[in-house]
Amino acid sequence: MSGFVYSEKPIEIVEGNGPYLYDDNGTEYLDMGASYACVPLGHGHDRVTDAITTQLSDLTYVQGSYPVAVRSQLYETLGHVAPGDIGKVWLCNSGTEANESALKFARAATGDTKIIATVQGFHGRTMGALSATWKEKYRDPYKPLLENVEFVQYDDADAMAKAVDDDTAAVIVEPIQGEGGINPASTNFMKMIRELTTEAGAALILDEVQTGLGRTGKLWACEHVDVVPDILTSAKGLGNGLPIGATMCRDWIAEEYGDHASTFSGNPLISAAAEATISTITEEHFPVHAAEIGTYLQKQLEVELDNRVRDIRGKGLMVGIEVKRGANRILQELAMNHRILALPAGRTVVRLLPPLIINKNQADRVVDALGEIVE
Ligand SMILES: *Cc1c(COP(=O)(O)O)cnc(C)c1O
Repeated sequence: MSGFVYSEKPIEIVEGNGPYLYDDNGTEYLDMGASYACVPLGHGHDRVTDAITTQLSDLTYVQGSYPVAVRSQLYETLGHVAPGDIGKVWLCNSGTEANESALKFARAATGDTKIIATVQGFHGRTMGALSATWKEKYRDPYKPLLENVEFVQYDDADAMAKAVDDDTAAVIVEPIQGEGGINPASTNFMKMIRELTTEAGAALILDEVQTGLGRTGKLWACEHVDVVPDILTSAKGLGNGLPIGATMCRDWIAEEYGDHASTFSGNPLISAAAEATISTITEEHFPVHAAEIGTYLQKQLEVELDNRVRDIRGKGLMVGIEVKRGANRILQELAMNHRILALPAGRTVVRLLPPLIINKNQADRVVDALGEIVE
């Protein structure tokens, strides 16, 4: 028996500590992608490990309809840190499931069906979230998908104004597109979709699976533009490496969500990890740190790479470097010659999503390495 979905990389990672990963030969790598933003506190963070270990010896799982203190605590913490009057939370197991739930809830609460998504947007791989995902390569083999999904140019407020109508159940959008190439939306666009959806009685779903949890310099990226969605989805870093997703809703969504459930929702072990992760991020002010180091990193990249790259963009510790030729060669050289692991975002963008714990020296290491590699 063998797996078949992933083509495996030529390094076997056996251990992680803070921003570092170690292979089976003991070689140290700087994890500048935080393993796809999944470990905002770095690998093996003490507080998270302690929370999991304690919970593991008490209770790993009980059916979701029984109250469990650690899950109640997580509900409370998420309610406390969620933007504006978002106060209801549904816990699930991944980003795609958080978005899948969001689309279902929006349809039930509005009684409408049309979903508006954006060109280059990415929301996950299950059928509903996939239907709102732009890339043809991901969608084509599985068609027909959901009907009544319309794609609008990202950051184009006029196009969005034309698309949102009385039949619209939801607009789903990333405040900064991750997979699509690290594309930030303008404040105007974000405010516009808030107004348009409110007027049409549609739900605004902000997918913060990648932008959330302090990465952009605020706990949620929507705080930069002062926009409160009707549904905010989170996942990736929420359990600092353990699988969890959250669909956070305003009351009007939660009151008419339909009928929904999932066996592992709010699993005690995973809830303990998420509670420790989010409390640590907020109590230790990691969003502020991410803003500071992110600004420093982007500035140094600009100084070092100057006119050798097409663009450097992003916010906080969500940074895209658009290179002139393929990003893959650069990523390979970063890994093999400099022991730095970074990520692509499309063919021409090198994506940095480091753990929020990185310091200036580690940022400098990446800048120096890129300075040597990029021609
Ligand atoms: C990764 C990602 C998802 C999907 O999350 P999974 O946990 O892989 O299902 C959805 N939306 C965004 C913005 C993402 O970055």
